[in-house]
Amino acid sequence: MQQPSPATLAVTAGRPTVTPNAPLSPPLVLASTYVASPGSPQPGDLGYGRWTNPTWQAFEAALGALEGGSAALFASGMAAIAAVVDSVPDGGRVVVPDAAYNGTLALLRDLAERGRLDVVRVPIADTDAVRGALAAGVDLLWLETPTNPLLEVADLPAVVDAGHAAGSLVAVDNTFATPLGQTPLACGADVVVHSVTKYLSGHSDVLLGAAATRDDDLLERLLRHRTTHGAIPGTVEAWLALRGLRTLHLRVDRASANAAELARRLSGHPAVARVRHPSLPGDPGHERATRQMRGYGAIVAVELVRGAAAAEDLCRRARIWVHATSLGGVESTMERRRRHASEPDTVPESLVRLSVGVEDVDDLWSDLEQALA
Ligand SMILES: *Cc1c(COP(=O)(O)O)cnc(C)c1O
Repeated sequence: MQQPSPATLAVTAGRPTVTPNAPLSPPLVLASTYVASPGSPQPGDLGYGRWTNPTWQAFEAALGALEGGSAALFASGMAAIAAVVDSVPDGGRVVVPDAAYNGTLALLRDLAERGRLDVVRVPIADTDAVRGALAAGVDLLWLETPTNPLLEVADLPAVVDAGHAAGSLVAVDNTFATPLGQTPLACGADVVVHSVTKYLSGHSDVLLGAAATRDDDLLERLLRHRTTHGAIPGTVEAWLALRGLRTLHLRVDRASANAAELARRLSGHPAVARVRHPSLPGDPGHERATRQMRGYGAIVAVELVRGAAAAEDLCRRARIWVHATSLGGVESTMERRRRHASEPDTVPESLVRLSVGVEDVDDLWSDLEQALA
C-alpha cells in the first residue's frame, strides 16, 4: 500500500487499533491517576495525570504523523513556544523575525530584559540579513513563515541550512501554513510549534499548543518541561482538537480557495491601498510560497487608503465577518492588528488581518463590499 497522503492521515492517524465493540475514535479519558501495574513502574505505565493521558497521546500521534515527527501537546501555543525557548542556555542568543506573532516577541523581550538571553530581530524574508545576524553567533533561530500578520515568506530550506551551519537549533512556528501547507521537519528544521488553537482545532472553542520534532532528546526535554512546569493540555480540549483535526484538509482547502479569491477581488477595490496574500502574483512572497508550500493559506492582510479609522469602520460595519482577534476557525474574522499595543510598529496602522473561513465566498465578498463602501 502506498504511503497515506496528509488528507488520509488527518482522518485516520491516532485512532485506536480496530477492535470489535471498541470505540472507533479515541475516547475522552478523564483521569488524574492510573492504576499501577504489578511490580510498577513498568515501561508504558501512565502513572499520574500530569505526566500523560491517552487522549493527549491520540492527538500527539495524529499531529506527529502529519508533521513527520513526534509531537507533544501543551496547554497553549505559548506554552509550547516557552518550552522550546527554555532550551536556550543562559546568556544565549536568539534570532527572530522583526515582525512575528506578538506573544512570541513579548516572551523573548521579557526574557531579554531580565538578562536571561539576547534577542536579535531580522527581516525574515531577507536571507542575507538572516545570514548576517547568524554570523555573530546563535543558539536558537526562530522562524515563522508566513509571518503573522505581514505574511512574509522566509526561504525555508535556505535559512534552516544557514541556521545549522551557524550551529543553531532551528524552530519553525507552522501555525499559519499548517502541516498541509508545509512540513518544516522535512526541510531539516529541528522543531515545529503550533498554536493548535487556530487551524488544527479550527472551531474557535479551544486553546492548545504543540511542538513536534524528530530529535528524541529534544522531545524528552520538552516533555520534561511540560511535566515540571505544569503547562499541561486540558483533556477535553485535546479531544475537541482531534475532532477538529479530522476535517483539517477540507477546512484549509475551502478557506484557502476563498482567501485567494477575496485577495484578488480586494486588490481591485478603490478603498484598499495594499493586499498581502502569497497567492497574488505581485506579492513579494509569491514565488517562494509557490516553490516551498502547498497552497497559500487563508490569512489575508489589507491596508486601507483612508487609514486606521477606515480600518476600524470596516471591522464595525461587517455583518458576516466577526470583529474578533485570533484566527483559523471555520468562521471568517477580522481585526486591525495595531489596536493591540503589543503589536510591532513594523505593522501598518491601517492593516486589517482577515482570517478567511469556509462560508460562501460571494456572501463574504458582498459583506466586505458593503462594509468598505
Ligand atoms: C495564536 C498564535 C500563537 C499563540 O498561540 P496560543 O494558542 O494563543 O497560545 C503563536 N503563534 C502564532 C503564529 C499564532 O497565530
